[in-house]
Amino acid sequence: MTLRFPELPALPLERYTRLLSAERLQPLMARVEYLRAGLVGRVVWNVSSTAAGGGVAEMVRSILSYARGAGVDARWVVIEAPPEFFRITKRLHNALHGSVGDGSDLGDAERRLFEHVGATNVAELAPLVRAGDVVIVHDPQPAGMIAALLERGARVIWRCHIGADEVDDEVQRGWRFLAPYVQGAHAYVFSRAAYIPAQYIDPARAKLIAPTIDPFSAKNQPLDERSVLAILARARLVESDVDAAVGTFLREDGTPSRVDNSADVVREGAPPPASTPLVVQVSRWDELKDPAGVLEGFTRLDPARIRGAHLVLAGPNTTGVADDPEGAAVLAAVTARWRGLPVDVRRRIHLASLPTFEIEENAAIVNALQRHATVIVQKSLHEGFGLTVTEAMWKARPVVASAVGGIQDQLDDGVEGLLLDDASDLDAFAAAIARLFDDPDAARQMGIRGHARVLDHSLALNSLLSYGALIEWIDGRDTLGA
Ligand code: UDP
Repeated sequence: MTLRFPELPALPLERYTRLLSAERLQPLMARVEYLRAGLVGRVVWNVSSTAAGGGVAEMVRSILSYARGAGVDARWVVIEAPPEFFRITKRLHNALHGSVGDGSDLGDAERRLFEHVGATNVAELAPLVRAGDVVIVHDPQPAGMIAALLERGARVIWRCHIGADEVDDEVQRGWRFLAPYVQGAHAYVFSRAAYIPAQYIDPARAKLIAPTIDPFSAKNQPLDERSVLAILARARLVESDVDAAVGTFLREDGTPSRVDNSADVVREGAPPPASTPLVVQVSRWDELKDPAGVLEGFTRLDPARIRGAHLVLAGPNTTGVADDPEGAAVLAAVTARWRGLPVDVRRRIHLASLPTFEIEENAAIVNALQRHATVIVQKSLHEGFGLTVTEAMWKARPVVASAVGGIQDQLDDGVEGLLLDDASDLDAFAAAIARLFDDPDAARQMGIRGHARVLDHSLALNSLLSYGALIEWIDGRDTLGA
């Protein structure tokens, strides 16, 4: 077993002068500086289970990079575990969302492996951790390390990115498994109040921090229209005669780069031409993201009403996400459904596995695809937060999304997009997409409002301040009443 320590740049917070007025930014910067002073000589460790492919990896990378830029010794540790461990933790992840997943046991044998993996990973990390260091443990997978970290004298925060709005038997089963490992943490962070399992942990130590995006990353940075088309053409997602050489994006270190790898796409015929409107969902291949429902709902739309739009379901290459073992099976199931469609319908639906050789290249492709989309959908059946919705809003795209989990906190129905009360109602899903095509002006206004809302609330700088305030609270210095 070997832990991995993904490299992190130190990103300057001064970048935010491009987005925020001096009056708004200055007090924030002063506050960051104050928080930094309280962390001198201490490391802020973040422990998670994958360095790529999912909202957690996305956020950890951006927040820690700005923390480092602000002068905090923030480090990222990714645990190592065998596939059987990730099968169990995926089962647990599904349970905490109220879903039975593969229906397997969460019993003593599973506990033994969970604890064994926690113990072997923490045996490597603990010698590096000193009393007073802060360790933020993300999600259930590394939770088995918490007790040993507390013994080292670390201040431990357990950051839970998932949860269910309603507690059913499955959710209870998940918490019964997990609670003993997380209970001792100094604080817990959830994305929404409904996710706090007050029966299992001390709610007084639970705080809420909403996820955020890095507006300057390869995933979210501005791209002009020609770059968008060139990147999508190179990735074989759209056909365009824009010279591929103009398709550059900026890497974290500021160097321009191009996309070299293409997506693996299940399709009939050629990629859609640049002029074809796209309905897009970007998600891991996960049943809870309901790619099959998106496909089925899309087939119910009259092509003429949506101006001949195509659907692109995009997700990471299924070999690229270490902690999600179900991806290949979910993609295979969606592909089988796609094969069963009439050929003229198949021609308008593309199942794209995006290359994951290189995180920033993958991010640039997602960025271009989201920017090129006419409508972005997120038809999740359950959702911890749903960072793709924030990403779509930042790109001023109108969104059709299920009113589940954290999606409900991100947009209001009819304001930044359309929310679906019943995530499984395919006719309502199709009708919502059609409505946005019927009224492009209203759709455009929704996109503009979405961008403004993200600018006000959902930038990585907001997270940095929230975590800083939380650490202050744990340290007993609570100047803001966090
Ligand atoms: N994502 C990505 N490449 C892909 C598919 C998804 O980078 O091929 C990203 C997506 O842009 C978002 C994250 O993975 O940043 C998904 O986060 P979300 O909160 O929507 O769902 P999660 O995967 O965490 O359940």
